Amino acid sequence: MGAVTAAPPLEPLVAVDVEAIELVTVPLRIVRPLHTAGTGPAEGATQAESSVREVLLVHVRAREAEGWAECVAEASPTYAPEFTEGAHAVLRRHLIPRAWAGPTGDALALGSHLDTVRGHPMARAALELAVLDAQLRAADRSLASWLGATGAPVAAGAALGLHGAVDDLLADAEAALQAGAVRLRVKVAPGRAAERLLALRAHVGHDALLQADANGSFTLHDPAHLDELRRLDRVGLTCLEQPLASDDLLGHARLADVLSTPICLDEPLTSLAAIEAAVHLGACEVVCLKPARVGGWIAARQVHDRCVELGVPMWVGGMLETGVGRAANLAVAGLPGATWPADLDPRPRYEADLAPVPTPVDGLVGLPTGPGTGAAPDPARLSDADVVPVPA
Ligand code: MG
Repeated sequence: MGAVTAAPPLEPLVAVDVEAIELVTVPLRIVRPLHTAGTGPAEGATQAESSVREVLLVHVRAREAEGWAECVAEASPTYAPEFTEGAHAVLRRHLIPRAWAGPTGDALALGSHLDTVRGHPMARAALELAVLDAQLRAADRSLASWLGATGAPVAAGAALGLHGAVDDLLADAEAALQAGAVRLRVKVAPGRAAERLLALRAHVGHDALLQADANGSFTLHDPAHLDELRRLDRVGLTCLEQPLASDDLLGHARLADVLSTPICLDEPLTSLAAIEAAVHLGACEVVCLKPARVGGWIAARQVHDRCVELGVPMWVGGMLETGVGRAANLAVAGLPGATWPADLDPRPRYEADLAPVPTPVDGLVGLPTGPGTGAAPDPARLSDADVVPVPA
């Protein structure tokens, strides 16, 4: 058992009267790309040019209040099978029609109707959260307090992309620390992991919290990869995230026996059952919880509670969320069992974000206190948006 107790059961909320559901797509210019083992620049390359992310939002207009949620699916299916255009299609053709046919205005009751669609957790999560956001705004409740957050601020971690040159990594780390991050999570890939992390460790000192995320790029079938993982084991990482392929649970369990660095899983943790299996196998010693990847914020609370029961450390991971998606993640990061720093890089990701990104004070970010997620897109930022109503 963990040292903290799980939050109390979720309180039912009064259903709202949903009048319209829209899919809103808005292009945002990225000023700080995050390269990973799947998408990173070639060896020796410098940081890629800024690019644009088509941000997909679900907008629920209810008689009592509006609700907003960001779908975190990325443009390409390189992190997860979901991608923005696919999420748009599955929401339009399958998920929203099921919501209209079911208890449209009650997120807690909606789940079983949405679950008849297999997969697509990020699309599902966005629809459920938009309804929940409208309900919470109507009830003047914050998502964080409804989920059971204690109100304590959350330690801010930063994610550092895969850099071509060691100096670029060190500069990125320095900038993140200067901006107030207290934990650095570094994207790594075979041949570019141990040397870089050892250099970073030397640069930031022994006390700095460092994690590495390989996004499944290593394989135990290559002796050179195993050798590099052993060298990475000497860096003093708080955890090594997803060294092997997403479905290689046995490989992760074997690696956990070899390395002293705790193994954290990310990509395969798509449900409570998947997390329990991975933990039971010894493949997962630390959980990266992404609410959208487990199908929503209600499921994330269940995952949180179970991780507390199992005594598994947990932290809330982020993707390329705007300020709208960040605020929702922050509500889960504020739960009492989410004890490790969350992905809350204080540095701007977008040229003009949809909502403000909170600034840490002494390394800590306060929870949103406004109703719902506490963040909605600035209407001025939606002038270029493509709006697709999905009628009942
Ligand atoms: Mg990851």
